[in-house]
Amino acid sequence: MKISILVFGKNNFIATLPDQILYATAFSVEVMDNLNQAVSRIKITPPDIILVQASLDGSMELCAWLRDQAKLSCIYCILFEDRLQQLNDRNKYGWQRELEMSAAALKQGTDAYIWHLIEEKTDYSSAELTANHGLILAQLSVGLRKAQKYRDMIRANDMLSAIALADSLTELNNRRALEWDLPRQIKRAKTHKTSLSLIILDVDHFKKVNDTHGHLAGDRVLQLLCQRLRHNLRCQDTPFRYGGEEFVILLANTTDDEALLVARRLNRVVSDEPFALNNKLTIHITISLGTACLQAGDDEQGQSLLHRADQCLLQAKSAGRNRVIDSNCVSHISHLKAVSS
Ligand code: GH3
Ligand code: MG
Ligand code: MG
Repeated sequence: MKISILVFGKNNFIATLPDQILYATAFSVEVMDNLNQAVSRIKITPPDIILVQASLDGSMELCAWLRDQAKLSCIYCILFEDRLQQLNDRNKYGWQRELEMSAAALKQGTDAYIWHLIEEKTDYSSAELTANHGLILAQLSVGLRKAQKYRDMIRANDMLSAIALADSLTELNNRRALEWDLPRQIKRAKTHKTSLSLIILDVDHFKKVNDTHGHLAGDRVLQLLCQRLRHNLRCQDTPFRYGGEEFVILLANTTDDEALLVARRLNRVVSDEPFALNNKLTIHITISLGTACLQAGDDEQGQSLLHRADQCLLQAKSAGRNRVIDSNCVSHISHLKAVSS
């Protein structure tokens, strides 16, 4: 991937940058001289490195804005001060002025501050120009190292997140992923006033599968079960391995009636067709399922929603297994029990 460089400067500044920056194929360079445009561009696609011409209007505001954006701290910002300005200031105010300006620039949020031969004067010697370009390229390589380190860190983070949120046996999202996703889906459903449902399912008498065929066969059954579940879900449904042989499915934009239909379909596709582990061994299993739909009074973490679905699952187990119970049905059963007692 190319390193992206945003140059905030006028043409006279850009013309003085080393060719290695402007024409290197490893970089994509974009030039801007308007503060608002630069800020919007940075917000949308943050570059790796920003080169700022200090004498341009808005340059200090840009550096200060960048400094305050915690999420953009990965951008390496180099501020270029006009060398002629520096020489004039030195004559007028003495050496300490130069040091004060460097300190002020770094405090402003830049990562590096360079006195640069910006004015197109003809009396710069080639040695001066070479030395100046050498300094710019050295600072740029510091920025490149930072950008590379940042990208490596992002890649490592993505990999760790994927490992932390995936179940290695079934390749489904794991319980930690559910704990992360459920509150977000609840928030989204409440904000957009859409429905959200949840299914909990558990394999019936799975211990017997292990006891009869061994744990490896049990593992394979769980893998095949998850494949089958996944193939029979809609794109808005997200399955999670909740633990052992128990799974949760979040159904976005789904009412309780629709969730019941999904759950019944899953129940059928599991019980209708045994799982073929190899040419000689097929294992028949069934699952029990409970469903629940988000209600206005549900907590934001999803505990009450999960609890309702879990109660339905328990009912499905105690009613004989291999069936679906939805929360309407559970409240109906509790009502009947209350009336008869
Ligand atoms: P029920 O119908 O009441 O759910 O009965 P069950 O036998 O399925 O329930 P129980 O909780 O007694 O047993 C669950 C079994 O699931 C026991 C456990 O060893 C097995 N199990 C859980 N996770 C795995 C796994 O990753 N691989 C294998 N092979 N077995 C697992
Ligand atoms: Mg079970
Ligand atoms: Mg279980």
